[in-house]
Amino acid sequence: MSQRSGEPSGDGPVGAGLSSPGAASAVPTRSALRNDCPQPDGSQPAGSGSFHSMWRELLPIGRHADSHGYRRFAWSGADGECREWFREQAEGRGLVYEVDRNGNQWAWLGDPEAGDAVVTGSHLDSVPDGGAFDGPLGVVSSFAALDELRGRGAEFGRPLAVVNFGDEEGARFGLACVGSRLTSGQLTVENARKLTDGDGISLPRAMEAAGYDPDAIGADPERLARIGAFVELHVEQGRALDLSGDRVGIASAIWPHGRWRFDFRGEANHAGTTRLVDRRDPMLSYAETVLAARREAELAGAVATFGKIAVEPNGVNAIPSLVRGWLDSRAAGQASLDQVVGGIEKAAREYAAAHGVDLDVVRESFTPVVEFDHALRDELARILGKDTDLTVPVLGTGAGHDAGILAGSIPTAMLFVRNPTGVSHSPAEFAAEDDCVAGVLALADVLEGLACR
Ligand SMILES: [Zn+2]
Repeated sequence: MSQRSGEPSGDGPVGAGLSSPGAASAVPTRSALRNDCPQPDGSQPAGSGSFHSMWRELLPIGRHADSHGYRRFAWSGADGECREWFREQAEGRGLVYEVDRNGNQWAWLGDPEAGDAVVTGSHLDSVPDGGAFDGPLGVVSSFAALDELRGRGAEFGRPLAVVNFGDEEGARFGLACVGSRLTSGQLTVENARKLTDGDGISLPRAMEAAGYDPDAIGADPERLARIGAFVELHVEQGRALDLSGDRVGIASAIWPHGRWRFDFRGEANHAGTTRLVDRRDPMLSYAETVLAARREAELAGAVATFGKIAVEPNGVNAIPSLVRGWLDSRAAGQASLDQVVGGIEKAAREYAAAHGVDLDVVRESFTPVVEFDHALRDELARILGKDTDLTVPVLGTGAGHDAGILAGSIPTAMLFVRNPTGVSHSPAEFAAEDDCVAGVLALADVLEGLACR
């Protein structure tokens, strides 16, 4: 790969400026969904030009000089710069700009109060040293899709809004999707107020320091009631589209996922004087359990990861008394997930018994499967497949999103844009320029199909 970290490659559209009303698209939009789309004849769709200029503006914000990863944590200075950028995009397009009670930003075309709105957007915050695409691709593509529709001379029959949900990644306060969880009532005000960052700063104080009113936070059912459909475009966090040769796909569901804590308790003793046969070493049981997790996940076509571990007393010359490992597991369905976690726990208990080690397994968190609205999903597939004989791939994902939170309240769908590295939450996260433009055009087609006359 010759291109890294979302830098403009230089081989994108040349001279494609900001959109101008009436500039008709010359690129076949729907056939742009695959690799083999015809080459454009030289002119560019309105959404393509504005995408590139917006992308270049956002790229430097919050990028760490050494890691080249992004550090756009909720309510930090970099987050504030991204928010200021969003406000400028809204106002520059003559959209109605507002910040809701939970600090989420909205840009409305049409009357925000009218109801049955079509909303699109994503988030602008990042994980520590995250990539350029996770979140911003959806927000930038949303504004670009709006430019594209204006360029096509579209007439809107429903209000349309672009949204930036606050604190999606949970990098600072440890809980993901705080903005959408608060709005949907899935996070109570009481629990939100208890959230603190690594420096002991609470969420309310962080919001206040960033110029927002923490006393206003809470569920916002009136706002959700005005939304008829939410569509989030997101970079794919895997390689399914790369393997299938498609630029854009539709999400079917977010896999059920959870975290389990495994506490293996043995006996601390001297690493030099304790005979092997006399040991009760929990590290052995833990190590065997890690291998079992890999085996069980492979059998079920799922994923299982021990990515965090705590050891006591944590001495180089001491047999541990405790090994605590955290299992993250996700699967396409509940039955597979139960099979994987059940299989790992069964194996862990056998290994523990064989070494004279005690084992406690605690489920620390769990999110059931989120099925995106079937009617909306089918509508997206119909819109994107129209006038072509192509079938748009429909894929599940193991990653959580604001769309997954909102799916419990309103009809929600997602579009994924191909990421050839399959890597996410890292500077290696990537989407090619042509694929980003294909995503913009697909989103524009979807918004046109849903919101235009
Ligand atoms: Zn994201």
